[in-house]
Amino acid sequence: MTTRNPGERDFEREPLRGGCQCGAIRFRISAPLTMPHVCHCRMCQKASGSAFLALGEVGLENFAWTRGEPSWFRSSEAVERGFCAACGTSLHFRYVGSARIDVSLASRQHPDHD
Ligand SMILES: [Zn+2]
Ligand SMILES: [Zn+2]
Repeated sequence: MTTRNPGERDFEREPLRGGCQCGAIRFRISAPLTMPHVCHCRMCQKASGSAFLALGEVGLENFAWTRGEPSWFRSSEAVERGFCAACGTSLHFRYVGSARIDVSLASRQHPDHD
């Protein structure tokens, strides 16, 4: 049982959801994403095919795939990136072996109000 401040979201009853563009991969996040940031390093530019990649972080214990699973590409010695093999959506950034995962903020179902 976790205690929450008034007005704070109950992530167990109301998790964040998201997935890729084609719907083959869906995920659920049951804790607030921390460290929201925009990374414009060369690797994130290439992975997203855009000027930057917006990411937020969560512990693997609060993250689950609910449909399908991403494919992983090792973009450097230390980093792997999860994406949908069917539609190519860039979904995740993860340090190899880390207990945390970064989620593309734009892959959330309701990025405007979650
Ligand atoms: Zn897809
Ligand atoms: Zn980056």
